[in-house]
Amino acid sequence: MRCEVVAIGSELLLGQIVDTNSAWIGQQLALAGIDCHHQVKVGDNAERMAAAIRQALARSEAVICCGGLGPTPDDITREVLARIMGAPLRRDEAVAAHIRAMFQARGRPMPENNLRQAMIPEGARIVPEMPGTAPGMICPVGDKIVYALPGVPDEMREMMLTGVLPDLRRRAGGATIQSRVLKTWGMSESGLAEILDGRLRALDASGNPTLAFQASGIEGIKLRITAKGEDEATARALLDEEEALLRPILGRHLFAVDGATMESTVLDLLAQRGATLAAHESLTGGLLAARMAAVDPQNARFLGAIVAPAGPGVAAAARRHFGADIAIAATHAGDRAGTVQLAIAGAAGERSASVALPGDLPRLRRYAVIALLDFLRLALEAGQTREP
Ligand code: ATP
Ligand code: MG
Repeated sequence: MRCEVVAIGSELLLGQIVDTNSAWIGQQLALAGIDCHHQVKVGDNAERMAAAIRQALARSEAVICCGGLGPTPDDITREVLARIMGAPLRRDEAVAAHIRAMFQARGRPMPENNLRQAMIPEGARIVPEMPGTAPGMICPVGDKIVYALPGVPDEMREMMLTGVLPDLRRRAGGATIQSRVLKTWGMSESGLAEILDGRLRALDASGNPTLAFQASGIEGIKLRITAKGEDEATARALLDEEEALLRPILGRHLFAVDGATMESTVLDLLAQRGATLAAHESLTGGLLAARMAAVDPQNARFLGAIVAPAGPGVAAAARRHFGADIAIAATHAGDRAGTVQLAIAGAAGERSASVALPGDLPRLRRYAVIALLDFLRLALEAGQTREP
C-alpha cells in the first residue's frame, strides 16, 4: 500500500508556515507500515492542485490532502476533489447542522460563508470526528482513495488517528514499520560506513531491516534501523537483533538510543555511581549548564557551573567550589584550528585531552559541550573518574 501526501496552501510555498503536517503524517504512515514515497506542497490554485492530486493518484493507491477546507473563497480543496471525482458538490445537512451548532455553542452568529464547508462531493464519506467546522472527507476515485483533511494541525491529527489510519490499515491489510535510532559520537560518517561495511552488505541483501545514516551536527551521527514486520512484535524483534549486532561494532562510539541524549546518558551514569557534577564554563558560556539543567531540573546530580574566564586548574576549582565529586571544563587555546582542552577533575586528580573542533565560535561552543560530555561519559564508563 502506497500513500502520498499533498499539503495545500500558498503560505507553505512562501515559507510563512512550515509544513509540519506532512512530517507528522509521514511518521504515522511509517508506523502503520504504509509506504509514503512522495510528499508535495502546492498552492491554492485549482489547476495545480488537481494536477498534484492526479499525479499522486497515478503513482499510489491513496492520497492524503491537508489544508484548503476552510470557509473562505481561497479554500478550494472540496471543489478540486469534486472535479477529480467527476461528481457534483451537494450540501450535507448533517454537517451544516453541526457547523450551526458549533457557532451557537460559542454564542456567535454564523457567517453564511461557513455553510460552504458543508458542501461535499457526491459519493464522498465524512470522517466521523469533526473537531472544528471543517469536515474531513474520504473520496473514492475509481479503486483508489483520496482523504481530505483540514490544515489546522490539531484537527488534522485527530481525524488522521480516528478516521484515516484505520481506513488505510483496513485497505492495506497489516504490516507495520518500526525504527530505532542509535546515536554515535566521535567518528565520521565515512569512518562509520567503513566499520559497518559488513552489516551494510548483509542488510542490502536481505532488504529488512534497513540501516540509514543521518549526520546531525552536535547530536552526532545517527544510525536509523528500520524494520518491517506483520505486527509490532515481529518488527521489534528484528530491531533488537540488529541492535545486538551493531553494538559491538560501534563500541564506545554509541552513546544513546532513541530519545536518550548525551546529557541524559551522562546523568544516568552519574546516578548509577552516586556522583555529583559541576562545571567551569569559560568557553561554553553556560551552554553545558543549560543542557544539564534540562535533564536534571532539580540539580540532583548537576550542582552548577561557573561562567568566568579560565585560568589553569579551573575544573578542580569548580569541583571545590560546588563540593562536587567530579567537575569538568572546556577551554579554548584561541587558535584558528579550534583546539579545545577538555578537563575532568575527580577525587584523585585531573585528566585532560585536547580535541580539534569545527566552526566559528558559536558552533565551536556547542561542539565543545558535547565533546566535553562525551569525554566525561567515556571516563565514567571506564571507571576513571575516581583514579584519573
Ligand atoms: P480552516 O478551516 O482553518 O481554514 P483549512 O483546511 O482551510 O482550515 P488552511 O487554511 O490551509 O486549512 O490552514 C489553516 C491553518 O492550519 C494555517 O493557518 C496553519 O496555521 C495551519 N496549517 C495549514 N497547513 C499546514 C501544514 N501543512 N503544516 C502545518 N500547519 C498547517
Ligand atoms: Mg483556510
